[in-house]
Amino acid sequence: MTQIYAFPAPAQPFLPIIGSESVFPVRRIFCIGRNYAAHSREMGGDPTREPPFFFQKAADTIQICPLGQIVDHPYPPMTSNYHFEAEMVVALHQGGRDIKEATALDHVFGYAVGVDMTRRDRQDEAKSLKRPWEIAKSADFSAPIGPLHPASQVGHIQKGAITLSVNGNVKQNANLSDMIWSVPEQITILSTYFELKAGDLIFSGTPEGVGAVTRGDVMNVAIATLGNIELRVV
Ligand code: MN
Repeated sequence: MTQIYAFPAPAQPFLPIIGSESVFPVRRIFCIGRNYAAHSREMGGDPTREPPFFFQKAADTIQICPLGQIVDHPYPPMTSNYHFEAEMVVALHQGGRDIKEATALDHVFGYAVGVDMTRRDRQDEAKSLKRPWEIAKSADFSAPIGPLHPASQVGHIQKGAITLSVNGNVKQNANLSDMIWSVPEQITILSTYFELKAGDLIFSGTPEGVGAVTRGDVMNVAIATLGNIELRVV
């Protein structure tokens, strides 16, 4: 049955795909917390292999960032400590429940450079008051992401440099191989909590060196083989 909407339906969030006329329709954005040991320590955590934790950002927080172009990124209201977190984004084209680790990568369509922008002051407040994280993690435009690189072209990415610089100064510089929980493990564990579906994205965590930006700052975020995105905070 075709629905008749009472008003025009909201736009379907999507990501461009390198080398394709098609785009990747986005369903949900899952994010893993504290997935690099040094970042876990800088956030006051203990980077042991305690079970990982996850949260979501709304799919319509995506800001598409074409390669080779500086994108204006709006500084959000209601924060004075707005942080960058460089992350590799994993895009699923196949879902499931209780996905086995050995076959988890079969569910991956491709990879992209992303930033999990965070109202850190609101997150600290939420932690201390035992409140949820949406206000900290799901601000409008808080998920800048570059185009997707299909795994069919770049393979499955498990190592390589991940860097973020602000105004040319390197702030984050680590290797994807430093993840505490690998991409297959993340997919396996997430799929015990949720039925994953085609269109889901996973932000795979950020390394150490997170920090604040202010208006006028230019962030350059790069992952080896996935290129780099550039954002000017406005
Ligand atoms: Mn993050």
